[in-house]
Amino acid sequence: METIVVSPRGARRWRRGHPWIYRSDIEPSDAPPGIVCAEETNGTYLGQALWSPPSEISLRFLTTEESPIGGEWWHKRLAEALAVRDPENLDATGYRIVHAEGDGLPSLIVDKYGEIVVVQLLSAGLEAVRDHVLRAVDEIVKPKSILLRNDASVRRHEDLPLKVDEIHGPIPEFVEAREGTVRYWVAPHTGQKTGCFLDQRENRMLMGRQAHGRALDLFTYQGLFALQMAKAAESVVAVDSSATALEVGVKNAELNGVQNIEWVEANVFDRLREYEREGRQFDTIVLDPPAFARQRSAIDRALRGYKEINLRAMRILAPKGTIFSASCSFHIGRDRFFEMLVSAASDSGRRLVLEQTTSQSRDHPSILTIPETGYLKGALLRAVD
Ligand code: SAH
Repeated sequence: METIVVSPRGARRWRRGHPWIYRSDIEPSDAPPGIVCAEETNGTYLGQALWSPPSEISLRFLTTEESPIGGEWWHKRLAEALAVRDPENLDATGYRIVHAEGDGLPSLIVDKYGEIVVVQLLSAGLEAVRDHVLRAVDEIVKPKSILLRNDASVRRHEDLPLKVDEIHGPIPEFVEAREGTVRYWVAPHTGQKTGCFLDQRENRMLMGRQAHGRALDLFTYQGLFALQMAKAAESVVAVDSSATALEVGVKNAELNGVQNIEWVEANVFDRLREYEREGRQFDTIVLDPPAFARQRSAIDRALRGYKEINLRAMRILAPKGTIFSASCSFHIGRDRFFEMLVSAASDSGRRLVLEQTTSQSRDHPSILTIPETGYLKGALLRAVD
């Protein structure tokens, strides 16, 4: 196995609990992508890591162990990841089995939807050991079929091709999954991420219990918050700018025999302005926008966007209404998110109780020393009057 030499600063980072070593913290090497040994400049052994020569993140540590990583190691780590997830307890057939760094398996995503599994290999180092990884997924999860959604744009930073492959198919265009009492269709080949935003599952189930009166689901995608709320609310308006996402929403409503959702194709910013002008009010509002800040440089602009939609939502909230507001931008941390909410609440003139703060679902573990593993923030707010 090849050895890569890591600077004292890089070694410190790994000892403090973060598995990424940047290009500026290694000595250049011609080793091909795959698993390598890493040692510090003074010769101290550091562990084994995924090596991605084209990437700014050159090394992603897997272990401090010395015995070479092979098929058995992947088998054991997959089994461990599965063992900490209890589908009964999650009350879902769609859930994440491997949350990359959050499960100690950097750049690997494994999501399960009923009997199929969707895998993403997101680094050149991981791609090089693809056969071991896929065999382990097959042996441990025993899915009917595996889909490789290797069309995620981050693969560009790794000089990897963007493509979707059926490992053993065929996989239908839509597969059914469930969360709580809601059944839904997933389009594994074409849906966002691996087909569904599994990270919001527990927040959606929370809103299934909280919703009341006239509900509004903003950025609904395929309608999963709307479907949860439809059981408890009188009516739901579900808004998204994507017609194809809304088509699946309609199919999802049919699957559940739900008839009180109105699907609206619109830009949320425009629609909120119209509701405000018309004096329209809602008793329950969900705000689940896409990541407005994909890069650090976009933070200020993103915060203005978050504030605008939150402020308008607060203004059209009926007396004693409930808002669930989320942000999945990693670059906007919890503090900034809550500062934005405080500023919107203050401008809105509403008195809002912070009933609950939430994060991503439990099957997306976030490690304290790896901030990138925890990106989703949510706030459940209730208007006092
Ligand atoms: N709430 C969803 C996930 C939302 S993902 C769930 O729980 O599954 C974000 C969604 O916002 C996408 O469907 C995207 O089409 C939509 N979107 C992005 N910008 C928008 C805008 N300005 N107006 C309306 N929808 C938008």
